[in-house]
Amino acid sequence: MYTCGPTVYDYAHIGNFRAFLFEDLLKRWLMRRGFKVMHVMNLTDIDDKTIKGSQNQQVPLRQFTDFYVKAFFEDIKALNILPADVYPRATDFVSEMVTLIKTLLTKDIAYKSEDGSIYYAVCKFPNYGKLSKIKVNELKAGARVSQDEYDKEEAQDFVLWKAWTREDGDVFWETELGKGRPGWHIECSAMSMKYLGETFDIHCGGVDNMFPHHENEIAQSEAATGKKFVDYWLHNEHLLVEGKKMAKRLGNFYTLRDLLAKGYDPIAIRYLLMSTHYRQQFNFTFEGLDSAKSAVDRLRNFVRRLHDVDGGGDSKGKVATLTAKLEACFGGSMDEDLDIGTALASLFDFVREINNLLDSKMISKSEASEVGGLMMMLDEVLGIIGKVEVEEALTADIDAMVQKREAARKAKNWKEADEIRSQLKAMGIVLEDTAQGVRWHKEKS
Ligand code: AMP
Ligand code: ZN
Repeated sequence: MYTCGPTVYDYAHIGNFRAFLFEDLLKRWLMRRGFKVMHVMNLTDIDDKTIKGSQNQQVPLRQFTDFYVKAFFEDIKALNILPADVYPRATDFVSEMVTLIKTLLTKDIAYKSEDGSIYYAVCKFPNYGKLSKIKVNELKAGARVSQDEYDKEEAQDFVLWKAWTREDGDVFWETELGKGRPGWHIECSAMSMKYLGETFDIHCGGVDNMFPHHENEIAQSEAATGKKFVDYWLHNEHLLVEGKKMAKRLGNFYTLRDLLAKGYDPIAIRYLLMSTHYRQQFNFTFEGLDSAKSAVDRLRNFVRRLHDVDGGGDSKGKVATLTAKLEACFGGSMDEDLDIGTALASLFDFVREINNLLDSKMISKSEASEVGGLMMMLDEVLGIIGKVEVEEALTADIDAMVQKREAARKAKNWKEADEIRSQLKAMGIVLEDTAQGVRWHKEKS
């Protein structure tokens, strides 16, 4: 799976994170269903924007982008996004890009313009426009575009290699193609094929990447290899602010850091951004973020509550029926093009019904741990409850039991002390007597 990563010229905004969170959910669901996922996410560290940014700050390009790469890794960690297997940086793969462009030149699909830049002739690739449904206008054929991004919904010859100009300053490579730098689109073709082969399964990105970026990736890769580039394209819709795409150039954006500085929980942000179906647009609002926080807290409190169940009750099979129903509903919805809305609705129905049983003390300790186990399993997909919280609750429970056993021993109540020791053993906890008192650790599984 290849996902177009951030352009590291600034902090990513939460619209970008909507894309990365959708991809995280997709990946986690594929893994849940038993697929072995090899995930490549590139870091665009050379393009018009990064060059401009480094010049404005008067620092070398690598130093400038390093700062935002580091920030990006901090942000995805805060959002509990699973790391990709590799994060290739475009500037480390220029020779692969040069090789690809040379192949396109040899096949007469690319051509050199007067200034030494190299362009892709879209009229030479009959399938051009298939992904984005853009029409190739014969009259416009040969019209060229040298910027990396262009909004115009029409096909134009796009740049593969940009000959050096004064504006590029000290950013250039001396190669067989001349002195210059790669265009943006060729970066993703070269890096994806380098790691995943000439044909691979899944390619993702936001809908704004469909044209021209992904259309151009297909054209470059398929013309060079003669093989199908990607089997499945998945594009997430935009996060909007007051009806408009959240974007840097519109100034209507929040970075993750903006929201964390206001005191918002990063996991509530994660929940908000991933809980709408990826092919639907949705508006960012602070009310939405507040309800995301309540939803996350409801789940966390539920898991804590399960840990507090101390036996006695018995649901007479109700819990088993409810867990089976949840597993089927959640799984069935996620299999249906990641229908997260329905999956979450079934989860909250389940939480409500189990809470009712808990209120009536109708749940046994083993049923509670079965439900807890299911919650942990679902959380491997959702990533919102968090192991830490449960571990903390568990640690507190164990500490309390150890202290209770110590008190029983002091009172020479050997029977109770032994009982607690066996209960702990059943939970996989081993006690050891040390000079500093009793310590415990988890049995190695
Ligand atoms: P960029 O750093 O601009 O290359 O974008 C990184 C990813 O974020 C790409 O997959 C974009 O399509 C995606 N993206 C950009 N803006 C938004 C938005 N407002 N909502 C959702 N995804 C977005
Ligand atoms: Zn890309």
